Amino acid sequence: MSEPRVVIVGAGMGGLSSALLLAHQGLDVTVVESGAEPGGKVHSREVNGVQIDSGPTVFTMRWVFDALLHSVGTRLEDEMRITPLQVLARHFWPDGSQLDLSADPAASEAAIAAWSGGDEARRFREFCKTTRQLYATLEGPMIRAQRPQMAGFMSDLGFKGLGVLAQLGPMRNLWQQLGHQFTDPRLRQLFARYATYCGSSPWQSPATLMLIAQVEMDGVWSVEGGMVGMAQALARVARRRGAVFRYQSTCQRIEQRQGRVCGVHLQSGEYLPADRVIFNGDIAALRQGLLGDEARRAVPQAVPPRSLSALTWSLHSPTEGVALDRHNVFFQSHYASEFEDIFDRQRLPEQPTVYVCAQDRPGPVTPGQPERIFCLVNAPACGDGNQITEEAIEACQTRTFQHLKQLGLPLQPQTSNCIRTTPQDFHRRFPASGGALYGQATHGWTSIFQRPGSTTALQGLFLAGGSVHPGPGVPMAALSGQRAAEALMASLASTNKFQTEATCGGMSMP
Ligand SMILES: Cc1cc2nc3c(=O)[nH]c(=O)nc-3n(C[C@H](O)[C@H](O)[C@H](O)COP(=O)(O)OP(=O)(O)OC[C@H]3O[C@@H](n4cnc5c(N)ncnc54)[C@H](O)[C@@H]3O)c2cc1C
Repeated sequence: MSEPRVVIVGAGMGGLSSALLLAHQGLDVTVVESGAEPGGKVHSREVNGVQIDSGPTVFTMRWVFDALLHSVGTRLEDEMRITPLQVLARHFWPDGSQLDLSADPAASEAAIAAWSGGDEARRFREFCKTTRQLYATLEGPMIRAQRPQMAGFMSDLGFKGLGVLAQLGPMRNLWQQLGHQFTDPRLRQLFARYATYCGSSPWQSPATLMLIAQVEMDGVWSVEGGMVGMAQALARVARRRGAVFRYQSTCQRIEQRQGRVCGVHLQSGEYLPADRVIFNGDIAALRQGLLGDEARRAVPQAVPPRSLSALTWSLHSPTEGVALDRHNVFFQSHYASEFEDIFDRQRLPEQPTVYVCAQDRPGPVTPGQPERIFCLVNAPACGDGNQITEEAIEACQTRTFQHLKQLGLPLQPQTSNCIRTTPQDFHRRFPASGGALYGQATHGWTSIFQRPGSTTALQGLFLAGGSVHPGPGVPMAALSGQRAAEALMASLASTNKFQTEATCGGMSMP
C-alpha cells in the first residue's frame, strides 16, 4: 500500500513542525507555501545587503524544539547554533530610569532592590514564585494538551492546580493582578507587556498570562543566522526526512469528495491529490471562504476579536546615545492609552511603546558603523480596512522616533536605510488576518477554550498555527503543528489506512 499523501498548506512554524514529524513517519509530505522561503511570520528583510530579522526576535521555550528534533532523531545543537542571553530585556522609562531583567532571577532581584527598594525586590521574588507555580500548573493541561474543554480542563488541573488559580483570582485581568503584585508602577507596566506577546491588551487579558514571565525567565536564546535560521533548519531536516517543499505555490481551494478531503488546487491550476491536508494559514482565511466553501464550513463561524498587528522598521544604521542590549523596550507615561487607541479606537497609538531589537548585540558593535535594528510598535489589525492612512502612518513614525530620541536613542529612518512594514503589508502577506499577527486576541478568561483545536468538521482537514490551540508565538505554533500531526496520525490509525507502529501510540511525539 502506498504511503498516505499529506499536503501541508503553509511553511510557518506550525506547518514546518507537522512536516518534520509526518515525513519522519514515512508519509508522503508536500508543503505548499505562497512565499519564497520557509518561516512565514519568521522572516527577515534585506536592507543595504544585510538580512534583518523582521518578525519574531525573542526565542523562548527551547524545550519545544529540543523535543521536536529529538523525536525525529536529531538534536537542536546539531541543526542550529543558539546562545542563551544573560539580559532578557533592557527597559527604559520617560523619567530616565532603566532596568535590566536578567536570566538569573537573583540578578534581577538585586537590580530591582537598587532601583526601587528592598520591598519591591521581595515582591518580585514572590511574583517569580507565583509565575513558576502557575506555569507548572498550566503547562500540561493547557500548553502541551490537545485543545482543552472547560470541564476536562478543570479536572486535569486537579485540586492543587485549582488552588493555584484561585489564589491568583482567575477572573482578574492581567493589569489588575499586577496591581496586587507590585507597588512600583514601572514594574506593573513591564510585566503587563507580556500580554502583547500574544497580541492582547493587559486590560482585557486574563491574569494567567503572567505565566509568560516564567517562560522568559526560563531562558531567551539568540539564534545564529537570526530567527530565520531556525525556520530554515526545520525545513532542512524535514527535507532530509523526505518532505517536498514547493515555494511560491498558493493553495486556492481545498477539495473534498464525499465529506472527506481529497486534494488541493493551486493558483497555478495544478491539482495535488491528498489523503490529508493541514492548513497552517490564519484560520480566518478558511472562515472567510478563501479556500472554498467546504473548508469554510469546516471551521467555527464565530468571529473572535483580532489580536494586535504592528508597524515595524527594519533599519541598518549606526546608533548613539543609550547603550542597547539585544531586546529593549522604551515605555511611555500613559500606558492605557496605547491599548485604548488600538483596541477601542482602532487607530495607531498616540503614545506608542517602542520595542527595539539590536540583532548584533550583545556582541561587539563598532561605534559609528551601521548595525541591524528592528523597531516595532503595536497597531490595530485593520489592515483590510481603510482606517490606517498614509498620513496616520507617517505621524506615528514621527511620534515613535521622537519618543526614542527623548529617551536617548536618536535614530533616523530613511528610504536608503530602512524598510517599513504596515498592518496592510502584514494583511497582504497573511490573508484574511487584517494584519493580526497572533490569531485571535486572548481576551477574557474563557478565550483559551475558544481557539479551535487541530481537527475540523471536514474529515481529513487539520489545522496548525498561531490562530489555533495552544496559540501564537514561535514555540506555541510549533506545538500546534505537533498536535496536528498527532491528530492526523490518529485519524490514519482509525481508518486503518496506515498500519502499525506508526499509529499515534507508536509515534514518539514531543
Ligand atoms: C513582527 C512580529 C513579531 C513577533 N514577535 C514574536 C516573538 O518575539 N516571539 C515569538 O515567539 N513570536 C513572535 N511573533 C509571532 C510568531 O511569529 C507567530 O506566532 C508564529 O511564527 C506563527 O506561526 P504559524 O505556524 O502560525 O505560521 P505563519 O507564520 O502564520 O505562516 C503561515 C504560512 O502559511 C502560508 N500560507 C497561508 N495561506 C496560504 C495558502 N493559501 N497557500 C500557500 N501558503 C499559504 C503563508 O505564506 C505563511 O508563510 C511575532 C510575529 C511578528 C510578525
